[in-house]
Amino acid sequence: MKIPYYSLQHISDSFQPELSKAISTATASGWYLQGKENEEFEKTFAQYCGTTHCVGVGNGMDALTLIFLAYQAMGVMGAQDEVIVPANTCIATIIGILRAGLTPVLCEPTLDSCNIDVEQIERLITPRTRAILPVHLYGRCAPMEAICQLAFKHRLKVVEDCAQAHGAIYKTRKVGSWGDAAGFSFYPSKNLGALGDGGAVTTNDKEVARLVRVLGNYGSSAKYVHDYMGINSRLDEVQAAVLRVKLKRLDDDNNRRRAVAQRYINGISNPLIRLLAMTNSDENVYHIFPLFTPQRDRLQAHLTACGIQTLIHYPIPPHHQKALSRFAHLSLPITEQIHREELSLPMSPLLTNEEVQQVIDAVNQFV
Ligand SMILES: *Cc1c(COP(=O)(O)O)cnc(C)c1O
Repeated sequence: MKIPYYSLQHISDSFQPELSKAISTATASGWYLQGKENEEFEKTFAQYCGTTHCVGVGNGMDALTLIFLAYQAMGVMGAQDEVIVPANTCIATIIGILRAGLTPVLCEPTLDSCNIDVEQIERLITPRTRAILPVHLYGRCAPMEAICQLAFKHRLKVVEDCAQAHGAIYKTRKVGSWGDAAGFSFYPSKNLGALGDGGAVTTNDKEVARLVRVLGNYGSSAKYVHDYMGINSRLDEVQAAVLRVKLKRLDDDNNRRRAVAQRYINGISNPLIRLLAMTNSDENVYHIFPLFTPQRDRLQAHLTACGIQTLIHYPIPPHHQKALSRFAHLSLPITEQIHREELSLPMSPLLTNEEVQQVIDAVNQFV
């Protein structure tokens, strides 16, 4: 029996026939951008996240870029101002900052959370720092209370990267409602995924929401009137229709991911393998279930031989990418260790208990 890492085909099938019906309706409407589907999705997703505003955009990276362009249009930030960001994130987070003309300042995570190390943030703050950008990596919530307190003390904005954490709850509130603004990705394999690219910005700041919408539509505040040099980044009607269908099942899907994760946690007992420290499991939406071992490549080969597909998130840290060679001089030992040791097990709301057990057995047999 083969166990895929995550089968998008099976995920799509599991939403039928409703998914095809929604696509047909959007197709038949004759209106494909910035119409009713987008409007309804934005309203529902804002409500879901607990914010007053949601703006659909083209993808998760644009969501972050547009937030920073909006703050620049508001005069809150200027060219080359600094944004503190975890060094072990998906490279899109860092490119999202750079593309907005700002400077990412890479911060180490903690080894047992893989989220930004709050203790390390303060020494990175300079007179040019304007924001902290926590990433809720693997679906685990960053320590938002401490981050928001620090941001308040230093008058910094907090911009959340929620691309891996749709529906995750930190303390009593969903992620995406803790910061001043948040970016979401609906890349197909995210917990809430479209059938193509998609993204959103959530915020309680009316002006940020307005400017993100304007800047994502060539800077157009009224048809053919351009106050800013914006970009083109909109959520299309077909994707919004797909997301409206899939959002209805997001909480159930996240609960099933938690049940799978609990089985992994209870079942994996190989002394060669380290799991992340448990948090209140209600918080985590387990976008990714990571294992850590210095024998990572051997473990991956063993699991492949057992018919189990795994992925690495991520094999090369951003500061060692050729595209980001300006950061190559940095010494980030915790980040480098995470990238050297991480292996992601199959994780999907459609995994059966038998499949999960098969993965656990294979992991425990590794010597
Ligand atoms: C997926 C992802 C992004 C980028 O989202 P896209 O929609 O692919 O642009 C950004 N940050 C994180 C943490 C991600 O996982």
